[in-house]
Amino acid sequence: DLLISQIAAGEVVERPSAALKELLENALDAGATSLNIQLEGGGVDLIRVIDNGGGIARDELALALTRHATSKIASLDDLERVGTLGFRGEALASIAAVAELVITSRRADAAHAWCLRADVASGEPEPAAHAIGTRIEVRDLYRNTPARRKFLKSEATEYAHCVDAVRRIALAYPEVAFTVSHNGRAGLHLPAGDATTRAASLLGDDFIDASHTVDVAAGGLRLRGRVGLPTLARTRADAQYCYVNGRFVRDKLLAHALREAYRDQLHGSRQPAYCVFIDIDPTEVDVNVHPAKTEVRFRDARAVHQFVFHAVQRALAATPS
Ligand code: ADP
Ligand code: MG
Repeated sequence: DLLISQIAAGEVVERPSAALKELLENALDAGATSLNIQLEGGGVDLIRVIDNGGGIARDELALALTRHATSKIASLDDLERVGTLGFRGEALASIAAVAELVITSRRADAAHAWCLRADVASGEPEPAAHAIGTRIEVRDLYRNTPARRKFLKSEATEYAHCVDAVRRIALAYPEVAFTVSHNGRAGLHLPAGDATTRAASLLGDDFIDASHTVDVAAGGLRLRGRVGLPTLARTRADAQYCYVNGRFVRDKLLAHALREAYRDQLHGSRQPAYCVFIDIDPTEVDVNVHPAKTEVRFRDARAVHQFVFHAVQRALAATPS
């Protein structure tokens, strides 16, 4: 029923950047190596994501829009070890409940692309022209839920949130090229490269100069990335990125472990700056806590906290300051 889907959609798609994040994750799950992101009106008027991934078969287009239908997990067992960014089968259905959604997609084995508009009752895909991969267009976000539209901030702010969403994902996928435009003007342009180049373009050369690479593994856990203490004036104050199994997280336990590890180092105008990737056996972490998937729950929280704390503290002690 429409009301329920609009309420549920609010949880997944609280603002344009949340919708964009879901579309980017889908493109990456589909194996895309190049993502072209076109935004208008801060993402409220238009979010268009064009990827060169595997595409969606004609007969699966309607399924892609069905709530709780996902091609990514086949059983509850798989839920224990999610290897893809998406798995709830909720995002496209949620977006379609609060916006106009059009999918155009072509698989490598198809003679041409197929296009499906979410609001067309027949649900019949139509032939279309498109390169191999997928183009998703989301227009007029919250057109039918004015209450939520009222909570959106200025166009510039919503656009900034969208760019943040791209940054977070782009840091974890340096081998994927990203381009962003807003209202027809070029924004971020990130060619495919290695982790250091990507971190330098997103966090600044000073961050690279004032940080050390870490790569520590113990007890089934691995932490890799860069940690540093650049001077505030020269690096973005919010250069704090933490990932679990490739997913950007905002987790209290990890934030605490990181803060503690930096505690003895903070003085003057120095500010923690880090980009760390924690890899853990998927059965040891629950990523299914919240629809937006930025919170995680560790089976052995204590062990994770200690591991992260010690790994970062040791790396910082070696950092020239
Ligand atoms: P989930 O990602 O949790 O499976 P979504 O609602 O985000 O759910 O997407 C539904 C399905 O649509 C996916 O399982 C996938 O099969 C398909 N899909 C969505 N976006 C893309 C894309 N860019 N490329 C290929 N398939 C896609
Ligand atoms: Mg998804």
